[in-house]
Amino acid sequence: MKYKLLTIITAGIILFTSCQSNSKAESSVSTDSTEQTKENEHTGDPVDVSKIKVADAKTILARKQVPILCYHQVRNWKPTDGKVGKDYIVEIQNFKDQMKMLADSGYHTILPDQLYAYLNTGAALPSKPIMLTFDDTDMDQFTIVRPTLDKLGFKAVYFIMTVSIGRKGKFVDYMTKEQIKQLSDEGNIIGSHTYDHKNFKKYAGKDWEEQLDKPTKKLEEITGKKITEFAYPFGLWNAEGIPELKKRGFRMAYQLSTKRDEKDPLFTIRRIIASGYWSPKTLSNSIKNSF
Ligand SMILES: [Zn+2]
Repeated sequence: MKYKLLTIITAGIILFTSCQSNSKAESSVSTDSTEQTKENEHTGDPVDVSKIKVADAKTILARKQVPILCYHQVRNWKPTDGKVGKDYIVEIQNFKDQMKMLADSGYHTILPDQLYAYLNTGAALPSKPIMLTFDDTDMDQFTIVRPTLDKLGFKAVYFIMTVSIGRKGKFVDYMTKEQIKQLSDEGNIIGSHTYDHKNFKKYAGKDWEEQLDKPTKKLEEITGKKITEFAYPFGLWNAEGIPELKKRGFRMAYQLSTKRDEKDPLFTIRRIIASGYWSPKTLSNSIKNSF
């Protein structure tokens, strides 16, 4: 037990140091927004994704990217928080202000079904679409993020690291399976973020089962829904691993802000980390500049 907690803490520390280098943004491929509706009548409509055929890579890469934000902890800073760590810890009031800025600016949150339909078929999205994603299972995503988003009518994607479910750490507590189920029941999407945050680029042998198959099974048991979304630990991916994700029924995979793969853009969807140092204004500019 102690060992596993240590692993989580170590993973957290590695996370804090390793996501740093991914700040170079890929420039937008296209500024064409004619496929997005001016009105917002499509918000929340269920999308029948079962009939969608995957488009060729060129088509997908040519569509304007939907901004996707990646968050970790949402809590107030402590004296023990390091300089780098604060990139991954957005203070509570700042988070509320960031979300209010998005709502006031006319952004509408979308979920993976909508993104998948849009990227493959050009299906309409609400005006100013954005996706919110939360990694690593932190308890404050339930206690702070959930009510904040609820007030604004926002939905989000939660990428769960299954080793951490229900655990209390020395520095962080993690969501329970009941809380994860509730988020799912309330219309949010639960995705996989592996078992214990091991670097995807180093998987071999049993890792595929430990890091992909078992977590998927666990999350499907908890939510009663098929798990189709995957977030790479530290945002790190390699082209060799993508077939392994496809084989297992994943539909899209999310990295951080490096360039998308030319052959598999759906498995290298870009996100930016919304830094704890960013004001709502900085966030607003970063969204515009990064996608
Ligand atoms: Zn993570």
